[in-house]
Amino acid sequence: MDTAPIPPAVPDLVRDRLFFGNINDAVAALTAASPIDFTHVLSVVSSASISFITDCRPGLAIPTEEVRRVVAGEDGAPPVSGAAPGRLLRVVERAGEGLRLTRMAVPLRDTEEENLLDHLDPCLDFIDEGRKVGNVLVHCFAGISRSASIIVAYLMRTEQKSLEEALESLREISESACPNDGFLEQLKLFEEMGFKVDTSCSLYKRFRLKLLGQSYKFGEKIGSHVFEDDPGLSPHSGSCHDTSKKDVRKTAYRCKKCRRIIAVQDNVISHAPGEGESCFNWNRRKNGGPSNNKEQDCSSLFIEPLKWMTPVEEGALEGKLSCIHCGARLGYFNWSGIQCNCGSWVTPAFQISKSKVDVSTV
Ligand SMILES: [Zn+2]
Ligand SMILES: [Zn+2]
Repeated sequence: MDTAPIPPAVPDLVRDRLFFGNINDAVAALTAASPIDFTHVLSVVSSASISFITDCRPGLAIPTEEVRRVVAGEDGAPPVSGAAPGRLLRVVERAGEGLRLTRMAVPLRDTEEENLLDHLDPCLDFIDEGRKVGNVLVHCFAGISRSASIIVAYLMRTEQKSLEEALESLREISESACPNDGFLEQLKLFEEMGFKVDTSCSLYKRFRLKLLGQSYKFGEKIGSHVFEDDPGLSPHSGSCHDTSKKDVRKTAYRCKKCRRIIAVQDNVISHAPGEGESCFNWNRRKNGGPSNNKEQDCSSLFIEPLKWMTPVEEGALEGKLSCIHCGARLGYFNWSGIQCNCGSWVTPAFQISKSKVDVSTV
C-alpha cells in the first residue's frame, strides 16, 4: 500500500498563472505530476535544499542545477540585516526533469519572530517574472502561513490592496490561508511603507530593532554586522560620494565636549511621545493628555545601534554610551528598554541625552 499512487494535488488558483499550495503540490509540480504545467516554483520552507522536498517521498529524486545563491552581507541583502554574514538568504536553481522549471527557495521558519519582510521584494519579483512566461506555484509546507503571507504581499503590491483586503481576497480562494501573527504585523508594516521594503525609513528601523531585541533575548550574539556605520567616520561633508544629495543639509548630533559627530538624522528612530506600553496614562491622559506632546520636547534621542557603540558588542544587557573620541558620557543603552521622559517606553533603547549633544547641519 505504501507505493499506491498519490492522487495529483491540485493547488489553488489565486490569479491568472498564480497558484498557492503545500509541499504535496510542490512535489507534483517538480515531478510533472501536477495537472498544471508549472514553469516556476517558489519554495518557502525551513530549508532551501531540494532534499527538504524529496525527503517527503521515499525514493524521490529531483535533479537541480544551481543558478544563483544569495548570502547575507552581499548582493541584495539589506544593510542592517539581522542575518549573520554568510547566512543563506535564497537560492535560484533549475529543477525537475530536463531542468525545465525555475525554483527559488527561501529558507524561512513559520515563527512569529522570523524576518519575513526582508524576503518580500525578491519573492514578489520572482512571482512577477514567472507569471510573464508561465505558471507560478508558491508553496510552503502546509500551505497555511508562509506561502499565504507571500501571496498576500503580492496581492497588496500588484493590486494596491490593504492587508485586510488582500487577505480576504486570498481566503475567498483558500480558506486555509492564515499567516502567523508576526507575519501579519510585518505585512501591515509593508502596507504602511507603501508596498515596498524601505530599509531607510523609521518604521523599518524600528522593526529591525525589535527583531534584534528578540535575538538578544534568545541569547544570540549581536555582532557589529547589525550596527549601522559610524556617521562620525563617513564623509558627510567634504568629498561626498553621493553627489545627488550634495545640497541636502543633514541634521547631525555632535558631542558637546569634542564636537565629534555622534549620529545623523537618519539614525534617529522616532517614538510616539507618551504612548508607550506603560506610560503614566491613567494620570496624564485625563489632564489634557500627553497626546499633544511633540518629540522635540523629549529630553532623549533614541537612535539605532551604531558601530561606535563598542560596549553593546560585548553583550551586556545595559550600559553607558560614551563618546568614542573624548569619552564623555552621552547616554545609555538597554535591551529591555528605557522610558523617555515623555512616558513612552522604547525597547530596545539606544538613548542619547539631548543635553550632551549639539545639533548642527553637515
Ligand atoms: Zn566627545
Ligand atoms: Zn519621548
